[in-house]
Amino acid sequence: MMLLISLLSILLISNTSSLRLPPLWIKLKPQNHRTISISIPKGLKREEELKKIHETFMDLALIQAQEAGKRAEVPIGAIVVMEREKKTMENHYEKTFQIISKGQNEVETLKDASAHAEMQSLRSAAKSIHNWRLHNATLYTTLEPCPMCLSAAQAFRISKLVYGAPDLRLGAVETHINLLEIARHPFHNTMEVVGGIRKEECGKIMVDFFRERRKSKYKVGEIKGIEDARNSKKP
Ligand SMILES: [Zn+2]
Repeated sequence: MMLLISLLSILLISNTSSLRLPPLWIKLKPQNHRTISISIPKGLKREEELKKIHETFMDLALIQAQEAGKRAEVPIGAIVVMEREKKTMENHYEKTFQIISKGQNEVETLKDASAHAEMQSLRSAAKSIHNWRLHNATLYTTLEPCPMCLSAAQAFRISKLVYGAPDLRLGAVETHINLLEIARHPFHNTMEVVGGIRKEECGKIMVDFFRERRKSKYKVGEIKGIEDARNSKKP
């Protein structure tokens, strides 16, 4: 793996003029914790590249959400990515991303109201690096965090929060309340927030889940019984 990373870094450093993320990097699968390096020339506009990076990691969070859904949990997933940057040569720098934890909603499984995907991934990330201060780490979550998870992200000193779909009922970044404005953290008020990454996909997985759950609320016979009762009342 290290050899692959080294080769990848060398390849990218020698061919950075196009600034395209290499397809090989995009295709990497998330089974294990991985260290991934890319090299980006300094001084160029990076908005589009940053968006691609966010989308790639959000796709991994979406896989966690899908797995939660398969276990009849509300499908929300999260991952924590550690980011490092170092200058490698004149006008170039190398970015390294390490996925240090993955988490999914486990409230029903664990009978624990605090086992939201973000909480699970934050706790796991701190254990993974033996440090609760997750400086230079990004929390990716498929849904806008609730007040508990947003506060936890601050407590864990997360540097950047990236989320997918807005949460109309509990979203604490901007949709339900704006906790970052209302209650500024005394020691950590510099968390950068990016919302709306893979918004449609992250929203759809929730809508589909609740639609299926409503359908399965009544067994086929029960629905027929309700319809029979309705029909019998018609004149
Ligand atoms: Zn939460």
